Amino acid sequence: MACYDCIQENRPDTVGIGICTRCGLATCHDHARVLAAHVQRANGMGRTTGPRTARRVVCHTCHAAETAH
Ligand SMILES: [Zn+2]
Ligand SMILES: [Zn+2]
Repeated sequence: MACYDCIQENRPDTVGIGICTRCGLATCHDHARVLAAHVQRANGMGRTTGPRTARRVVCHTCHAAETAH
């Protein structure tokens, strides 16, 4: 699994560590951003957020897009 961003940068030998949850492309340790994800649970009529955070991986491109204002 080669990191898509590394391929773009002519570094095709990088080992991917995960898949971006937004764009679905493989990403490496350098290009990945590992974020805490709050888990929503159904609770009667509403929703609550669990006490512990899960984890999700996004690539740096999607992370930049998510945090751009
Ligand atoms: Zn990379
Ligand atoms: Zn992405």
